Amino acid sequence: MTVTATTDTPGGSDAQKLQRPVYLDCNATTPVEPAVMEEIVRWTVEEFGNAGSRTHHYGQAAKNRVNAARADIASVVDACADEVVFTSGATESNNLAILGLASHGVRTGRLHIVSTQIEHKSVLGPLDELSRRGFDVTLIRPTPGGWVDPDEVQAALRADTLLVSTMAVNNETGVVQPIAEIADALKEHEAFFHVDAAQAFGKIIAPLRLKRIDLMSISGHKIYGPKGIGALMTRRRRFSRLPLEPLQYGGGQERGLRPGTLPVALIAGFGLAASLALQNHEQRAAKCAAIKREALASLLPLGIGINGDPDRTIEHTINFSVPGVDSEAAIVALKNLAAVSNGSACTSQSYEPSHVLVAAGLPSEQIEGALRMSWSHLTVVDDWTAIAETLGRLARP
Ligand code: PMP
Repeated sequence: MTVTATTDTPGGSDAQKLQRPVYLDCNATTPVEPAVMEEIVRWTVEEFGNAGSRTHHYGQAAKNRVNAARADIASVVDACADEVVFTSGATESNNLAILGLASHGVRTGRLHIVSTQIEHKSVLGPLDELSRRGFDVTLIRPTPGGWVDPDEVQAALRADTLLVSTMAVNNETGVVQPIAEIADALKEHEAFFHVDAAQAFGKIIAPLRLKRIDLMSISGHKIYGPKGIGALMTRRRRFSRLPLEPLQYGGGQERGLRPGTLPVALIAGFGLAASLALQNHEQRAAKCAAIKREALASLLPLGIGINGDPDRTIEHTINFSVPGVDSEAAIVALKNLAAVSNGSACTSQSYEPSHVLVAAGLPSEQIEGALRMSWSHLTVVDDWTAIAETLGRLARP
């Protein structure tokens, strides 16, 4: 019994595709949409100008393309084009948002930050750094369902709270966080609100459009765009720019917040990926939901435990444990059928129990068995049964 799954990866011959396991790790990175790839090639080969070159056509064309992408990306979250600061990805955006507000905190005596225990390492890392610099960081524990209770965010606020930073969708469990309710809880407070929307941008629309969100981190390679490009959205507050300071200095690009020659081709690809995501998000979500139904029909008979509240989980992700099956053993057994993971790609080099599942208070056996499967509207899984049978054999050798 084989899974004759075609991968959703554009490129590669059909023969190669047939031999490869189906790609079920879209939360780590997504394949690039073919139209996006064409755009990247065009802005690499035909139009290769530097968007900072003022003196000729090549520079002007590049600048126009960058500005069009800026507008397309901004419109996904109902922001202004000049509120988009291009970065290398959500890791850099998270660092810029958090570390970039530190001087303002010191100047104004606001040295308290509220965040959560389930954030990505690219949020927890800069927060650790600010703790070393004397900031007081409160990390809220999630509910057992893997979501953060807005009342707890509100209860953690203090007069000297500078920043609240919460993610929109958890990368490991796919649990959608109550961003609108958290924004509401912050209504009367001056704290800046940063949302790590790496897994949500272009997939969840309305909550990310709320004006209470001051800063938002997004990434190209989670929405069928290229790797190495992302943005920090920096919304004006009462018509004023946020008191953000750069982490590096140079030629003044991106209003001095992120200097360096702009990667025009990557930005063009990201811009197109963002408009396709906005245009098609409902159809994409429906396709992903259909895949989830098929997955669950095959997996539920194994008696799996779902990690993260299933009613709050995004359509393209499931994180589950099969009783008695260790995740490393499952990954090896599934190797030729499906490319899956047991958590975040960022920490998968060194196996350590998921900090997200530990924070949710799951039993250690369930954490050690946790498998994450994440797909896209492009994914074709011909045979979930084969995947389920392989896992079933591990459970009952
Ligand atoms: N935050 C979250 C929630 C993520 O899932 C990721 C990617 N795994 C990042 C931040 C980092 O994004 P990037 O790879 O663009 O640096």
